[in-house]
Amino acid sequence: MTSIGIIGECMVELFRAEASASQDELFKKRFGGDTYNTAYYLAQCSQGAIGVSYITALGDDSLSDEMITTFATAGVQTDLIEKISGAVPGLYMIQTDDHGERSFLYWRSQAPARQLFQTAFTEQLKAGLMTKDWLCFSGITLAILYPEGREELFQLCRDFRSKGGKVAFDSNYRPRLWQDRDEAKYVLNQAYSLCDLALPSYDDEKLLFDQEDTNQSIQRISKLGVDEIILKNGSDSVTSYSDGEVQVFPVEAAKVVKDTTAAGDSFNAGYLWARLSGKSLENSITIAGEIARQVIAQQGAIVPIIAPAL
Ligand code: ADP
Repeated sequence: MTSIGIIGECMVELFRAEASASQDELFKKRFGGDTYNTAYYLAQCSQGAIGVSYITALGDDSLSDEMITTFATAGVQTDLIEKISGAVPGLYMIQTDDHGERSFLYWRSQAPARQLFQTAFTEQLKAGLMTKDWLCFSGITLAILYPEGREELFQLCRDFRSKGGKVAFDSNYRPRLWQDRDEAKYVLNQAYSLCDLALPSYDDEKLLFDQEDTNQSIQRISKLGVDEIILKNGSDSVTSYSDGEVQVFPVEAAKVVKDTTAAGDSFNAGYLWARLSGKSLENSITIAGEIARQVIAQQGAIVPIIAPAL
């Protein structure tokens, strides 16, 4: 069975349960984070046909336990999740203004996931990851790690690829998680140079690398040595690069768009599912788009989906 280790941070999400003019507001809680969203959707699609492990560090508190139970219930393997004594998971709150515009407040600077790849568990984690066929992480994973952990992850990618493993990477650039643009550029380009499959968003390329169009962006990333690039661009076409060939695929219009959170994460899951199951690049893009459309038609990052036939 093909196996993949998806590395990153899952947080506690708090969102307003009902509108209230007073301070005495009611909030609901769920769990989410870009890489976990991908792990969740990949497990939903593959239904056990791909071994999906989520790799993070959590605390030894009851919320961390609840998260692990939630992951396992979704079919995501949790045996490589480290529990750091005394730590509690990162948290964010979604605020919605009078016009329905959403903003996010974060409490993640002390989050245990930041310590990944630099604790006493690291050797065991690396050994566990080396047994996988694929690794997957994002620019958010890299942004939250400390430089030492980041370097360990990059070294793991080198070792992993030299024994035949494949690495997938989504840039997911979040400016506030980086010291400055130069740091983000340097680290994300390092990740590109160590991955086999890149799943970036054109928005990131425009914002961070001042790319003027998708073609320029494909050229930029391919020069870093990536074999396969799937460049997402919201409701605009998906551009791919593989075997030296650039192709543009139209995106099927969504009938309902309720909440675009996790569009890219679920697209990545759909793509990985199809591609790791042996489907062509073109088929995999179609399937990825179908999964993403189901997700944006519903409220929230983690929603039920029906996987199409492969
Ligand atoms: P991200 O969440 O990383 O910014 P995108 O917004 O580029 O990702 O969306 C990822 C994919 O989801 C797109 O390539 C497309 O297939 C699908 N998608 C996103 N928004 C829409 C939309 N409005 N209509 C149809 N498909 C969409």
